Amino acid sequence: MVEKPSKERYDFAVIGSGPAGVSLALDLAERLPSARIALVESGGAEPASGSIDLSTLVATGDLAAAYYPTHAIRGFGGTTAVWEGYCTTLERRAFIAGEWPISFEELARHYPAALRFLDLPESLLASPVAINESFQYRPYHLSKVRVAETYLDAVKQAPSIELLTNWTCRELASGDHQVTHAELVHSLDPSQTSTLSAQHFVLACGGLGNSRLLLLSGLKPTLPALGEGFMEHPHVYGAGVIDLTQSVIDEVIANFPQTPDNKVVHAIQTTDQYALEHDLLSFAISFDTNNLVELSLLGERQRCYRSHAIFRAEMPSVASNQLSLSDKRDSLGQQRGAIHFEFPKAEELSRHWDHFSRQLLRSGLGRGTVHFAGHLTGGGHYIGTTRMGASSANSVVNENGKVHGLENLYVSGSSTFPAGGAANPTLTIVALSYRLAEHLQHVAGGVK
Ligand SMILES: Cc1cc2nc3c(=O)[nH]c(=O)nc-3n(C[C@H](O)[C@H](O)[C@H](O)COP(=O)(O)OP(=O)(O)OC[C@H]3O[C@@H](n4cnc5c(N)ncnc54)[C@H](O)[C@@H]3O)c2cc1C
Repeated sequence: MVEKPSKERYDFAVIGSGPAGVSLALDLAERLPSARIALVESGGAEPASGSIDLSTLVATGDLAAAYYPTHAIRGFGGTTAVWEGYCTTLERRAFIAGEWPISFEELARHYPAALRFLDLPESLLASPVAINESFQYRPYHLSKVRVAETYLDAVKQAPSIELLTNWTCRELASGDHQVTHAELVHSLDPSQTSTLSAQHFVLACGGLGNSRLLLLSGLKPTLPALGEGFMEHPHVYGAGVIDLTQSVIDEVIANFPQTPDNKVVHAIQTTDQYALEHDLLSFAISFDTNNLVELSLLGERQRCYRSHAIFRAEMPSVASNQLSLSDKRDSLGQQRGAIHFEFPKAEELSRHWDHFSRQLLRSGLGRGTVHFAGHLTGGGHYIGTTRMGASSANSVVNENGKVHGLENLYVSGSSTFPAGGAANPTLTIVALSYRLAEHLQHVAGGVK
């Protein structure tokens, strides 16, 4: 750990030390042992030690202002200080629908490394398992990793990583298609400022932190899509019931690889193919097998598992759901983000759900009810405001996570997802960080 950034140029500056930044910095350090890497963290070395004020936004729409900072935690390890650890791969459907500029296979190449980082078994990759032509079993594995507890020592001991805590990056200065340096301010004493220069910069400041920093750096005029298309994962907790046929569910679970050390949370969703054919949003329903009931399904008595359904959906990207800058300032004098966000209308989600539940009944798998109106909340998943794509007209980063128009600036995190599926994002965030480390190794060919 160092007190101040070095005056000499680093090879890499990684801004933000959540799972995206830490997995990237550690992998870069392993790939390029003689590279110098600055890892800059706005909070302290302790989890959740940073100021909530710095993530506080001005909010309009469906989520209250208080929601946002409690889901963007500052301190080494980032938001994993409070996360629940649900992990699964992103649905292929998000790729088949054509919104990602890379293939699912290209992302999937990096899932094994991400599983190791999150201490999850490779058996996770065995899902989804088809139940019938409409439905698949897609369990969540629970990661117990909290980045601060698991990786702070490794970062401190990595000879090529210099960890700078309590420094907030407030702007990136650029010229001639390059970022020249980052402007830093001390998070506990704003009278202290510093600059940090590096060959390559990576933003890993969280889903909204990334777009805010690019906005603060004055890049909106050249990147019109910056901040636009913010997505969450609409969740409904406990406002629904799902009954699933015991015999079918028992068979699927019995055939799924056992994972004694990692708890699994059961979930079903429509198959990717079925969702595409019927133009359905992806959503996943978690269930448990604690409560058996007997009921009549399609005229036959059936034993079914009855659960309070937890419903997680994907949502479309809508330009008006967006982050911009407000006139209000935070305690370091930076402009606060201003977010406008609306969930899809309850009637719209119900349309997809009604199809799902009718098909559940028709296929003899079960039945369910979920009430959306008044029960929608988010998952603390901030997606899409620096989306990946081919052109700066409608995206912010290219297929490698490089910001359009700047040769040495990259973004890592769920802000780059053009479509978020229904899967929780962190496993995919980490997989993309490993992919970026591989890319940067090639780009920085001169560094040994
Ligand atoms: C209650 C809750 C439950 C969750 N449960 C799950 C779950 O079960 N499964 C799942 O996949 N995801 C879950 N998530 C989401 C998960 O925590 C995030 O997807 C993940 O932490 C994002 O990683 P990240 O590294 O991109 O960002 P973060 O973890 O947010 O880290 C960003 C880091 O950047 C730092 N930073 C920000 N701005 C600056 C700046 N300007 N200068 C320097 N540093 C800066 C921050 O201090 C922070 O340390 C949950 C989130 C919440 C809030």
